[in-house]
Amino acid sequence: MNVADTRRLASGLEKLGLSVASKARDADVIVLNTCVVRQSAEDKAYNYLHALKPLKAARPELVIGLMGCLVGHKLNGRLQEKFPWVDVFMAPSEPAPLIEFLQNRLGLGLDQAETARRFAAQDGDYPLPAYERSRLVAAHVPVVLGCSHACSFCVIPYRRGAERSRPAAEIVAEARSLAAQGVKEITLLGQIVDRYGYDLGFQITNFKSQISDFRFQTPLAGLLEELNQIDGLERIRFLTSHPNWMNDELLEAVARLPKVCEHIEVPVQAGDDEVLARMKRGYTADDYSRLIEKIRRIIPGAGIATDIIVGFPGESQAQFQATYNLLAQLKLDMVHVAKYSPRPQTLSARTLEDDVPPEEKERRRKAIEDLQAQIVGQINARLLGQTVEVLVEDRQKNRWRGRTRTNKLVFFEDGVEVKVKGEGKRDWRGKLAAVTINWAGPWSMIGKVD
Ligand code: SAH
Repeated sequence: MNVADTRRLASGLEKLGLSVASKARDADVIVLNTCVVRQSAEDKAYNYLHALKPLKAARPELVIGLMGCLVGHKLNGRLQEKFPWVDVFMAPSEPAPLIEFLQNRLGLGLDQAETARRFAAQDGDYPLPAYERSRLVAAHVPVVLGCSHACSFCVIPYRRGAERSRPAAEIVAEARSLAAQGVKEITLLGQIVDRYGYDLGFQITNFKSQISDFRFQTPLAGLLEELNQIDGLERIRFLTSHPNWMNDELLEAVARLPKVCEHIEVPVQAGDDEVLARMKRGYTADDYSRLIEKIRRIIPGAGIATDIIVGFPGESQAQFQATYNLLAQLKLDMVHVAKYSPRPQTLSARTLEDDVPPEEKERRRKAIEDLQAQIVGQINARLLGQTVEVLVEDRQKNRWRGRTRTNKLVFFEDGVEVKVKGEGKRDWRGKLAAVTINWAGPWSMIGKVD
């Protein structure tokens, strides 16, 4: 989400005539976009913020912007007191304050109509920033901003505000604009992306009439259908889904639509029902297992990813073991595991003691990671000798790098002598390559194209 927000801001700054600097030291404007989902992310944001102070002291004309979840959707006045070297504060997904500040500072004197014309988000005219133009293969498109679910551990609703879906027409226009600029893959983003459109209320009717037919009860299924028709786009993904909103209609749309990838990100967070209840997730471990079965039945070969929090308050050894056993049984393709971190304002931080010691959280994290390495090692080993479709994103260490439709990372050499250092003979960027896998590890695979 932050990558997408940053890109939109960069695009806006270019409309003002600014261009990207190679080092922070050389820049006239520095923006720090921040995440606070765990304390470690917040600490990192503070470290960067403090590092900017001497730059501002040396060059008072330097403009410093702070964006994202450290700021939150309602500006907290204490931040201004604590960080007086910051000129502009921006809520997540809200680049406007910096744009306005710079317009005044640079004396551009654009009138309101001109500003509206240049910065209208609705017009679908979204030029990628120069540093990504004709390079970017896979882009993120936020479709649901904020979140209203309030899982007890999660700070996001407090920082990104209530759930708001973007109008379908705006999203489709943005996707068309990206495709016209060479983007081949888009990933639709939302904290609960499978709730897309439900908050639009009466507009859903309107949404459906824009979306050409009335077949869909599930707005995201309708949106996918529409995006699937965009020329030039090769692949569409969406994340993150909440288990309770993954209905058959959505899964059938994924199975039916050729551009929508067989890739589902659906976090379980824990495998014990008591822990899940304390997390306020709204489902049981058994519900989740049945959902995974259903996904596999409707979308054969789907790559399924999940998120896990270990060391949630009160998580006993047996409760952790339930999570471990669930993952051992389900054998998913990817597990993002995090140690519980109490976040300000959240229900769990206010009402539950963070009572699992740090060493124990680390032990549990490592246990899940080791289990998962073994599981994915086995899953990927089955691909040895097989040919998979890889959308190539870039070149790294003399190898092309891309992902399969199921979101597995694949590196390959192009089967021709590499003549110039760092450059293969053929430019694979943005192309679909048929790669035959000859090495498979848990985190990536290596193959060859003929
Ligand atoms: N909206 C998505 C993902 C939100 S943040 C969802 O609900 O699943 C991404 C991941 O960070 C979460 O899935 C969760 O596993 C992790 N996370 C969120 N809050 C956390 C916290 N307080 N401590 C540790 N991990 C956390």
